Amino acid sequence: MSSSRDTKKPTADYSSQKKGRKCLMCSEEFQSTHYGERVCANCKGTAAWREGQAA
Ligand SMILES: [Zn+2]
Repeated sequence: MSSSRDTKKPTADYSSQKKGRKCLMCSEEFQSTHYGERVCANCKGTAAWREGQAA
């Protein structure tokens, strides 16, 4: 076992701000750009979200 050549492992150390989150609307994982981001862009574009009917 000597494979120190092709060990490309994505280190979980990239931008602690950007992280996968679960949308409160569709429960789908999305990349939240900031702290207050709880809904994916997809749901944000919906009229329901605009009206503020989120739970
Ligand atoms: Zn969503």
